[in-house]
Formats: sequence, structure tokens, C-alpha cells
Amino acid sequence: MQRLAEIAPAEIPQIWSLLSQIPDPEVPVLTITDLGMVRSVCAQAGGWVIGFTPTYSGCPATEHLLGAIRETMTAHGFTPVHIVLQLDPAWTTDWMTDDARARLREYGISPPVGHSCHAHAPAEVACPRCASTDTSVISEFGSTACKALYRCNACREPFDYFKCI
Ligand SMILES: [Zn+2]
Repeated sequence: MQRLAEIAPAEIPQIWSLLSQIPDPEVPVLTITDLGMVRSVCAQAGGWVIGFTPTYSGCPATEHLLGAIRETMTAHGFTPVHIVLQLDPAWTTDWMTDDARARLREYGISPPVGHSCHAHAPAEVACPRCASTDTSVISEFGSTACKALYRCNACREPFDYFKCI
């Protein structure tokens, strides 16, 4: 039991809960744990090690998020904190929780369709407002590189589609 307590200290669920409050700067309705970016939280050598996989590589949000994680951990006395970037396997929209997909749709962004389809526009992207699949691509790059801009042909509203990767 002593050994088990060392491996998984009681603070770990608390750390997960703190990290689950850090919003993604590009999609503020989702947090970094909704997106599955936090891969692991471990205690090591008197400090904390967080395994983190950024969503889109080269996304300017990554630096911001690393800073936000450090700040949150430090503010709650979880120091020293070491963030390990885990780039392999690469992040995929498959890691997004179902709850996150539902909230994305409510926010007005069509959630990724299918599994790891490598950024090619899928055949059917549903309008987050009226659910019509009669939609067309306006631009492969929406408000950020992670999204494509679509227009709904039923309700005529443009919307962002969170690209599947
Ligand atoms: Zn529509």
C-alpha cells in the first residue's frame, strides 16, 4: 500500500481537476482535458510531471497553454512542474470527448467528422445551427488554421468546422 501511495498521490485527481479548467484559447468553450491534450500527470522526484500533446503542431496556442499550465500549477503550490511534450503519437480529434463535441456544436462550430481523416474535407459536414448536411466549403482556413469555413445552404449561415486530424 505504501508503494501504491507513492505511485499515485492523492493530489493527482486535484491536479486533473485544475487542468480541466484551462480553456483552449482558440475554442474557449473547450478545455485542454476536453480535447485530450493532457496525457498524464505523475509525481516525480518531489515535483510534478505533466505529459502534454498539443493539438495542431505549430498552433500558436501551444506556448500560451504551456504557460497557463505552469501558472495554474504554481498558483496551487504544485511545484516544481515539468511539462513533457509528447509529439508521438500526434494529437488526433479522436481524443476529443463526446461531451466536448456536443458543446462545440452548441457553440456554433461543427465538430470533427470521422476518425483521423487527415484534414481532407469530409463528405458531409452538418450545420451546427440547423443540422442540415447541405453545406459547402468557403475556405479551407477559417478563423484559425485548425478550422475550415463553411456555409450552410439551408439556413445560409457561415460556420466554422473543426477539422478532423
Ligand atoms: Zn444551417
